[in-house]
Amino acid sequence: MSRRPPAAAESCDVVVVGGGAAGLSLALRLTGSSSPTVTLVEPFDGPLRPGERTWCYWDHGTDDFDEAVSASWARLRVHGTDGRPIAVRPSPLTYRMLRSTDFERLVHSRIARCPGARVLRATADTVHNTADGAEVRCTGPDGRTLTLRARHVFDSRPRRTLPPARTRLLQHFRGWFVRTATDRFDPEVADLMDFRVPQPRHGLSFGYVLPLAPDRALVEYTEFSRTPLTTEAYEAALADYCRDILRLGAFTVESAEQGLIPMTDARFARRAGPAVFRIGTAGGATRPATGYTFAAVQRQSRAIAAALHSGRADAPPPYGRRALAMDAVMLRALDTGRIDGPGFFTDLFRRVPPERLLRFLDGDTSPWEEWSIGLSTPVGPMLRTAIELPFLPRRPPLVPRTGESHR
Ligand SMILES: Cc1cc2nc3c(=O)[nH]c(=O)nc-3n(C[C@H](O)[C@H](O)[C@H](O)COP(=O)(O)OP(=O)(O)OC[C@H]3O[C@@H](n4cnc5c(N)ncnc54)[C@H](O)[C@@H]3O)c2cc1C
Repeated sequence: MSRRPPAAAESCDVVVVGGGAAGLSLALRLTGSSSPTVTLVEPFDGPLRPGERTWCYWDHGTDDFDEAVSASWARLRVHGTDGRPIAVRPSPLTYRMLRSTDFERLVHSRIARCPGARVLRATADTVHNTADGAEVRCTGPDGRTLTLRARHVFDSRPRRTLPPARTRLLQHFRGWFVRTATDRFDPEVADLMDFRVPQPRHGLSFGYVLPLAPDRALVEYTEFSRTPLTTEAYEAALADYCRDILRLGAFTVESAEQGLIPMTDARFARRAGPAVFRIGTAGGATRPATGYTFAAVQRQSRAIAAALHSGRADAPPPYGRRALAMDAVMLRALDTGRIDGPGFFTDLFRRVPPERLLRFLDGDTSPWEEWSIGLSTPVGPMLRTAIELPFLPRRPPLVPRTGESHR
């Protein structure tokens, strides 16, 4: 009988599990001089690895991954259901777009230049705490197993099930990278929410247009609701949007992107033991009311790296309690139909100074600013929902589901 060789073991200071938005961002922050030794564990292409994605976020335009940014916009626009556009300039913030493959290339090249860092192509099977740190058991592409021992592990693997919640909506969408026969787009303006699309009976829907050139754009159809659509239904909604609302004329679809992001008031535990932290969507970095994650991941990665440099391990909460409480109220009010979703978001863009609104959506505003934003929402239905929320139980999901994307 052949016996398996014992698993090999290696040690480093920090293991980062998963090389998506959160894992790459943290690894990037840990590649400076006098950084701890780091191993980033990311599977080879296969079912665990999501397809290429587009990550957008707001920034002052001064981050250190400019070379991976494929487009940026200084002006943003929202169209109400009545068709009226609201264009804003959230200066000094700009809206920026990264393709996940470009970001991965940038981070991998920084890791390659940093003597204490490396990328390990393997699947993490288990992560557990030990007496003096944590252990990650991995399987390589050749089937060999390897145990990584570290002082700290930051785990971004998607959760199999979501924690119990009072409200559980999904942001689900499909986008086309289109090329039009004639110039149809203004590359200066990004359309964040275009509510001229037909609204579903529950939740809301909107178009999203990120122009990359006068004849090229990412055009998406998005819903905030309880159940995703079939690919055919997204395609039909996109075709209608491109033809009837954007009036694109002749165009070709060069590639597509589809996604599902949980919008929930579930509580995501960040600690999985003394030496293991959850980061990214798995650690609650997705803003419940918007699905935006990338900006919070950047803030958290910088904070984790700063703590490690000063000899501590910590993963601070991606959002404050007030932001999460306001999101819980908004999600419940939308889910129960007490507020009109398109009207709610359109009024926010109409009434709140744009720079403040974007900072709010990223969870970066003061109590006074949040109070004034709260007054720009339908106060009656929101108050009624806020009073009811503490009495509602958090229930586990009936069908386990986490974020995914496929092309
Ligand atoms: C299509 C799409 C578009 C999005 N666009 C935006 C946007 O524009 N702006 C924004 O802020 N947010 C956006 N989001 C939301 C969020 O930013 C992304 O989901 C983001 O990828 C979350 O980062 P993450 O690191 O938590 O998870 P992921 O990026 O999914 O990373 C998880 C990583 O874990 C790896 N992994 C899984 N299992 C294992 C294992 N066993 N061992 C080792 N590694 C493993 C996977 O290969 C993957 O790389 C989008 C989401 C989707 C789906």
